Amino acid sequence: MTYRWVMSTSIAAESPAPEVEALDTAALDTAVVPRRPLALSPSRASDFKTCPLLYRFRAVDRLSEPPSAPAARGTLVHSVLEQMFGRPAEQRTPEFTATQVGPAWEQLAVDFPDLLDLVPAADMTAWLSSAQQLVRTYFTLEDPRRFDPEACEFAVEIEVAGGVPLRGFLDRLDLAPNGQLRVVDYKTGRAPGPDFEARALYQLKFYALMIYRLRGIVPAQLKLIYLADGMSLQYAPAESELVSFENGVVALWAAITRALDTGDFPPRPSGMCQYCAHQALCPEFGGTPPPYPGVPPRADPGTTPGATDAPAPGTVTAEVAFDL
Ligand code: SF4
Repeated sequence: MTYRWVMSTSIAAESPAPEVEALDTAALDTAVVPRRPLALSPSRASDFKTCPLLYRFRAVDRLSEPPSAPAARGTLVHSVLEQMFGRPAEQRTPEFTATQVGPAWEQLAVDFPDLLDLVPAADMTAWLSSAQQLVRTYFTLEDPRRFDPEACEFAVEIEVAGGVPLRGFLDRLDLAPNGQLRVVDYKTGRAPGPDFEARALYQLKFYALMIYRLRGIVPAQLKLIYLADGMSLQYAPAESELVSFENGVVALWAAITRALDTGDFPPRPSGMCQYCAHQALCPEFGGTPPPYPGVPPRADPGTTPGATDAPAPGTVTAEVAFDL
């Protein structure tokens, strides 16, 4: 495995903080949408490995979790960066892009009015300013005027070995003139410390496997960009490594399937419990889980689409080769 850390020289080092995920906007949508068949995503895989009961609460019971202001900021910044790549290259400047934070927030608040409750009015100016700073930090790590992504913010669903359904949402896919692929994921938190580095790499490998099975090409580079401290983690997977990783995913899905069939999702207390939104229902904290609702719909092998809205291969050309 080859990976390396890159740090922006213009960002001062500060103390680390837990990784922040963007909002699950589907959960905020008040419209009733049909339940999709179960599939494995990096987040749910991590949940099951951390605590099977947490996986059940999130993937089977689908219990809601309150949105947070940091997660809303993550969604906002992702939206601003996506819109930036939709504009002509000469407009992709730090100054102009930072001015788009306010309008993007207004649009998000229209789409999801509950988000307005997350930030007190008195704090809104400072909160938007912090989002602008994250956007500016992006420009210390990449020059978006030098390339056009093949796609931004798109979902992939694909079956891998054994018919295991995988689902992921990729922030960006780049295609170099020589055919190399690069997968990019933005994080609005700080780079993880050693204890959480493995989790970050797990997500990268998961996306690498999906692209490999979708396109038949091992991505030349996977890149995690941490906007809070201007760090990036770059990773160049080997084909044999992805095949080995796929075996692990198959084994994990088999364990999840057994738990689904038996309803046995034991709690596994750890330091992550302090972040768990479901302590009140957890036996480890004196709670009682709701009755097991039964096995949720699972896709029959062979019926998972190769990709939901992933781009067709080879349609856009990035202007730079990847710095590996
Ligand atoms: S509180 Fe801890 S043990 Fe209980 S469900 Fe949450 S993560 Fe699992």
